[in-house]
Amino acid sequence: MTEGKRIGIGLIGSGFMGKTHALGFAIASRVFDLPFEIDLAVLADVSEAAAAHAARRLGFRRSTGNWRDLLDDPEIQVVDITTPNTLHRAMALAAISAGKHVYCEKPLAPTAAEALEMAQAAAKAGVATQVGFNYLKNPMMAVAKALIDAGEIGEVRTFRGVHAEDYMADARAPWTWRLDPAGGGGALADIGSHILATARHLVGPITSVMAEVDTSIGARPVAVGATETRPVEVDDVARLFLKFANGATGSLEANWIATGRKMQHDFEIYGSKGAIVFSQERFNELGVYFTDDKTGLRGYRTIFAGPEHEPYGAFCVAPGHQIGFNDLKAIEVRDFLLAVAGGPIAGPDFSGGHEIQKLVEAAYRSARDRRWIDIQQGLYCK
Ligand code: NAD
Repeated sequence: MTEGKRIGIGLIGSGFMGKTHALGFAIASRVFDLPFEIDLAVLADVSEAAAAHAARRLGFRRSTGNWRDLLDDPEIQVVDITTPNTLHRAMALAAISAGKHVYCEKPLAPTAAEALEMAQAAAKAGVATQVGFNYLKNPMMAVAKALIDAGEIGEVRTFRGVHAEDYMADARAPWTWRLDPAGGGGALADIGSHILATARHLVGPITSVMAEVDTSIGARPVAVGATETRPVEVDDVARLFLKFANGATGSLEANWIATGRKMQHDFEIYGSKGAIVFSQERFNELGVYFTDDKTGLRGYRTIFAGPEHEPYGAFCVAPGHQIGFNDLKAIEVRDFLLAVAGGPIAGPDFSGGHEIQKLVEAAYRSARDRRWIDIQQGLYCK
């Protein structure tokens, strides 16, 4: 899978996520003792000039204004897609056909059918894949999962989650690709997919959803400061009820007009013997509560991330000093490239991305039809 001891990366896009991925590769290569070299080979963007500028800034050796140049480039083993959602499918399928491993941002595709096509193509080609659900890569998320899996909070009964930010709260925020209905939806697809990924990662498969979605700001300027507006057809806020395969129930909200909230990817999980609470705005901490603590001394305790929480120690030897958002991408990069090199898949791979997209799509269908939707449990459940 690797060419000698080198994995060549072809990155498509250099916006918010393109930069985060580039930093993730750079950090991973310094922080982890990887059995290969990461070669930032080529960066592709919409024009030669944009790509050349970004390549210089982000440390790529070459650049191109045509992403298809990556496909037959023998120096590239991994195609990394950080473009708007509507472009993921065509880019990923072309890269898979060319025998490349594919790392793709979330949501994997605008529809579950497209996500399934991508997952099946990757499985058939035998290439490794990864979808960018980076919040799952937090060492404290692993602590939460280990506590749940070990039964430390007993039987998990309920999940309460939210992913709220305020990047669309200002009605003057202009039209962007995020408002394109062809991209799969609004707040639910964009950030609700993250909290759905967290819910199923921690509590397990989701078997039914019921949802309501709403658009609060019905039109947006076509560009910054423009008086001309364009109608908004996607959701600003979505609220879901969930049923899990293990009998637990849950609720969550996705909201991109949550004034004042910057990164509220938060959850509370209540079990028969304890509970876990987490906030992404303080993601180096985990709150835990145990019912068998002494009477009169029961309460949430805070665990601070430290070297004993793998892989925090690779970043910093001292507990409580904290890792950052780009470090989560570095952990995701490590997991994916180890899979590219023949190691186990940490996920979510494209099959996991498809499972999450099924939930997003079912929630929109539920809101439209005003009823519960059962989720068909697929072949692909990683
Ligand atoms: P962005 O608008 O900041 O960047 C998109 C990039 O893609 C730009 O560099 C743009 O020029 C480039 N691009 C567009 N069309 C292209 C084409 N045809 N060929 C080559 N390059 C092209 O967007 P973003 O915020 O980085 O979001 C990109 C993806 O990342 C989306 O799927 C989004 O959902 C996802 N995302 C994930 C997270 C996360 O936490 N995992 C956060 C933000 C965005």
